[in-house]
Amino acid sequence: MTDQPTRHVPADLPGRIQHYIGGAFVDSADGATFDVLEPVTNDVYLQAAAGKKADVDRAVAAARDAFVNGPWPRMLPRERSRILHRIADLVESRDARLAELESFDSGLPITQALGQARRAAENFRFFADLVVAQSDDTFKVPGRQINYVNRKPIGVAGLITPWNTPFMLESWKLGPALATGNTVVLKPAEFTPLSASLWAGIFEEAGLPEGVFNLVNGLGEEAGDALVKHPDVPLISFTGESSTGQLIFANAAPYLKGLSMELGGKSPAVVFADADLDAAIDATIFGVFSLNGERCTAGSRILVERAVYDEFVERYAEQAKRVVVGDPQDPRTEVGALVHPEHYDKVVSYIEIGKTEGRLVAGGGRPEGFETGNYVAPTVFADVPSSARIFQEEIFGPVVAITPFDTEEEALALANGVRYGLAAYVWTNDLRRAHNFSQAIEAGMVWLNSNNVRDLRTPFGGVKASGLGHEGGYRSIDFYTDQQAVHITL
Ligand code: NAD
Repeated sequence: MTDQPTRHVPADLPGRIQHYIGGAFVDSADGATFDVLEPVTNDVYLQAAAGKKADVDRAVAAARDAFVNGPWPRMLPRERSRILHRIADLVESRDARLAELESFDSGLPITQALGQARRAAENFRFFADLVVAQSDDTFKVPGRQINYVNRKPIGVAGLITPWNTPFMLESWKLGPALATGNTVVLKPAEFTPLSASLWAGIFEEAGLPEGVFNLVNGLGEEAGDALVKHPDVPLISFTGESSTGQLIFANAAPYLKGLSMELGGKSPAVVFADADLDAAIDATIFGVFSLNGERCTAGSRILVERAVYDEFVERYAEQAKRVVVGDPQDPRTEVGALVHPEHYDKVVSYIEIGKTEGRLVAGGGRPEGFETGNYVAPTVFADVPSSARIFQEEIFGPVVAITPFDTEEEALALANGVRYGLAAYVWTNDLRRAHNFSQAIEAGMVWLNSNNVRDLRTPFGGVKASGLGHEGGYRSIDFYTDQQAVHITL
């Protein structure tokens, strides 16, 4: 189902975005800027400062100074925690405006952008609480030794983030990096710099000391690259494509940096014949079409047991056709506009490839009535063989491949038969199979008979080409701190 797109342009949009370095908004040293488009018209609506090595050098110097000379790393966890809670309060109190801007800049449906803004606040709250409640190991060897762990912030953390749910993903790195006493340089994605530009004001209002947070906008191969290669940045937390992660890994190697890599995915949803089919269909529709399908944990391959395959495909295709495509700012919209014309072209090219690889049962390109903008109809291919490119490669749009299986062994081989291993979804009412199958899947996270809902204490991250290292709960604290062992002889 589609609606004619309507236009909503937020009031008071900035015309330009600067860097934020050492507590001040600044342009690039060479004055360079880049165009930012909005995805409904693909018009350029603002200029963002295009950071290069000189700008990154300035930002790192400010962050380094705040780390070495400023109060932040030396404050009590409770004191830092209070400021982080104030940040969360401010984000929450501005959630509607944040969602409006995020939706305008990225094309995400407004209701979903609102949910992401609230998640951003929650990320700050969670790590604010965790650093206060945190306990570290102590070991006593009776009569001989006491040993304890002394955690220390590491220094300047380089945070490099993608364009899907930008504000929320930035908070997922900023929260723990700051809570543990590091200072940061954030390099947000060049497609979507708008919401990141709001952090500076929020942090100033919350009382974060100057120089602790620094922002450099710019292209990945310029600003991002300079951050990765800066000798005074011992940590890089990166979220983005697997191929970019590989490049960053190589570029950081000479400096032996700490790396956290949250990369791409091609996650399976496995539906057994004994599953609650209504729940499985609802969840697998949401799993791939929410956030425009621009979601790292999207269940973009659905494996269905043969006994219910035909029924599943028919019902799934019908439901996919009812997903409401529309203006991102319209609260009825379920799939908005893809982020950028380059990405739109990539997704549409995969749909054309899919037409030669599988049976198209819903969507298939631009929805009727949407002549412009990066709109793609929710697209479903059935009977997709595992050799197909649309089965193997991350599309990162509202496109799903459905494949039948006959046995549990075959389902497992199909689930694991890709280079990625981020998430998996399993639908079955057989208790033993549910656990055994879930544990055998090569994925960092498995959701069993459930929607993709996260508990922030659990590990988040992928295996194989989907990432390196885990964040979430203590895993984030571990990444952003050194654990020094102190041994005392009794
Ligand atoms: P991308 O790899 O193109 O860019 C991500 C960031 O890296 C951007 O800020 C970009 O400017 C920067 N960058 C690019 N080249 C760089 C370089 N040479 N050196 C340093 N920085 C560089 O990814 P994208 O297209 O923005 O995001 C989509 C991808 O992110 C998908 O693959 C998706 O699965 C993945 N993702 C993963 C997770 C996760 O948690 N695993 C979450 C969200 C998105």
